[in-house]
Amino acid sequence: MNSVSYEGMIFDEYISKEEIAHMVQEVADRITHDYQDKKPILICVLHGAVFFLTDLMRALPIDCTVATVHLQSYDGVASTGQVRENVPLQTDIRDKDVIVVEDIVDSGITMHYFKQILRSRQPRSIKVAALLTKPTELQYPDAKPDYCGREIPKKFVIGYGFDIHDYARNLPAIYALREA
Ligand code: 5GP
Repeated sequence: MNSVSYEGMIFDEYISKEEIAHMVQEVADRITHDYQDKKPILICVLHGAVFFLTDLMRALPIDCTVATVHLQSYDGVASTGQVRENVPLQTDIRDKDVIVVEDIVDSGITMHYFKQILRSRQPRSIKVAALLTKPTELQYPDAKPDYCGREIPKKFVIGYGFDIHDYARNLPAIYALREA
């Protein structure tokens, strides 16, 4: 099995780059269908979603723009339970159709918090596209993604944007922490 090691922990390949490409295309097809006559703004949640955002955007044959926000809730392999807005959203979203592009929805605290900020800025609509979600961990129902590449069980994953202390994002596949 293809494995990598970070910080003394072993991670096994979990989702191949071919499977990721397929998941991204499926999400893109659904968004294309739903936004035919709209020009959505894709808000990329940095840094984790940057790989998903660029692949997703290139698979969208509709007019769309991009904006960024840097949110952080994880430290290492665990959630801190708090969301930090390290770099706020700078773009005016009033009356715009917003799609938040996120790497993963876990407890949902990040999306719950960010949607509150977005609502106060009066967009026309807000949807969330997440590459992955961990449904068993979801604590904030309003954070459930509208578009999701794949549901996974409770696992810590790295690669394709997912980090461990900011490393491993550049792995082309997604790897899961091997259970002891
Ligand atoms: P939530 O706020 O939903 O609990 O967590 C969302 C954020 O936590 C994600 O944007 C991501 O940064 C981080 N996160 C959650 N699960 C994982 C994981 O398995 N691996 C990595 N690297 N980050 C995760």
